[in-house]
Amino acid sequence: MNQLPIFLHINDRDCLVVGGGPVAARKIEMLMRYGARVTVVAPQAGARVAGWAGEGRLRLLSRGFEPVDLEACDLVYAATDDAAVNERISRLAQARRIPVNVVDNPALCSFIMPSIIDRDPVQVAVSTGGASPVLARLLRTRLETLIPASYGRLAQLMARFRAAARARFPESTQRRRFWEQVLHGPVAEMLFAGQDHAAERALEAALANADEHPPATGEVYLVGGGPGDPDLLTFRALRLMQQADVVVYDRLVAEPVLALTRKDAQRIYVGKERSQHTVPQEEINALLARLARNGHRVLRLKGGDPFIFGRGGEEIETLSAEGIPFQVVPGITAAAGCASYAGIPLTHRDFAQSCVFVAGHLKDGGMDLNWQALVQPRQTIAIYMGVHGVEPLCEGLIAHGMRQDMPAALIERGTMPQQRVLIGTLATMPGIVKAGEVQPPSLLIVGEVVRLHEKLAWFA
Ligand code: SAH
Repeated sequence: MNQLPIFLHINDRDCLVVGGGPVAARKIEMLMRYGARVTVVAPQAGARVAGWAGEGRLRLLSRGFEPVDLEACDLVYAATDDAAVNERISRLAQARRIPVNVVDNPALCSFIMPSIIDRDPVQVAVSTGGASPVLARLLRTRLETLIPASYGRLAQLMARFRAAARARFPESTQRRRFWEQVLHGPVAEMLFAGQDHAAERALEAALANADEHPPATGEVYLVGGGPGDPDLLTFRALRLMQQADVVVYDRLVAEPVLALTRKDAQRIYVGKERSQHTVPQEEINALLARLARNGHRVLRLKGGDPFIFGRGGEEIETLSAEGIPFQVVPGITAAAGCASYAGIPLTHRDFAQSCVFVAGHLKDGGMDLNWQALVQPRQTIAIYMGVHGVEPLCEGLIAHGMRQDMPAALIERGTMPQQRVLIGTLATMPGIVKAGEVQPPSLLIVGEVVRLHEKLAWFA
């Protein structure tokens, strides 16, 4: 370990870049982003560098490197394609004790560049000490997924309240506890959810009430868990899943998705089977509100997307009425997941210009659908909850003018390892479903786009 990681103030400092090609341009762009005053020395600058010079954003000297260039300079990058020139720049700069970086040549560098995760003002720098830039980039990608984009705004908010917090808690342990609560509680969550003003007010209130024992305020995260493959979760969903201390979930949430919730969280099953609701909807709504009022961070985990045939709206109406903080995280809905994993594009310039999502469950044995809207030409229909009613569905579509041989697909357990895709037509699909002993959850897709499955199927 012979490199000390430091963060250098570069704003308004003089930086020299020798070279004007694409590699130099990347370094120059970064230096300018951090506010440096850049001089470029290059006999022939590339288009980007010449462009910046034309805009007056840097000074361009169109000639070869000369030792005088190192005068009054705080930092040097050598990015020419001439090894001897790079070597000379390194030697001269080090003799003058000016930090120097020679691109792709660690032996000639007095400093090296880390991979940067930028959440201004938060910055994370990753270095492998030059051992493997590829590994550094891989680590960076991992960290990018772990650190929400909004951490920068969170840091800015905390910076604005730093002095006030110091005045309120002169004692450092107390102060640290306060900030830990902020980071793990509703203030941070509001900010992540884009509710910056609410977050600021909440932080103000938290500071003002800090020495009383404020009633614990919980919150609810209404999260879409996607169709089954846990890789399809959003970063935000995963973060909240690992933060919540109570998980309320139902039947549609796939086991591998549920497995990503916090191990020590309390799990409450409110599962629904078709026409056999384990817990009535009103009770679920009330349960969420009660848990949050008791100070819990409640994850309401739903299959697919919570706002598509998920009753998500009803659940948060109750919370909204009671003033309980909540946020909604979209998930990949079954139609999108199944379509992708079955190789059936929902729209296609040759076959379908629109797509409708419809719930095809039976109501009192019948089906209450806007058939005319469904049988429009050049349209794909994705039918949720349609397996039990597949016969009246297909018959209804045909009766309202759709061709008997319109292609139809049934996707069983879409995106999961057990996924099955059954292909037929409106006329044959009821028989196929019966013979195939189809299991839930399954989705029907009707339309010309189904033909593409044969060519585009990729998920085995
Ligand atoms: N909110 C969910 C839908 C809930 S309705 C979403 O956005 O996906 C439940 C219906 O979704 C099921 O009856 C089935 O038609 C469909 N579905 C959900 N997950 C599925 C999967 N993995 N494969 C096929 N269909 C699925």
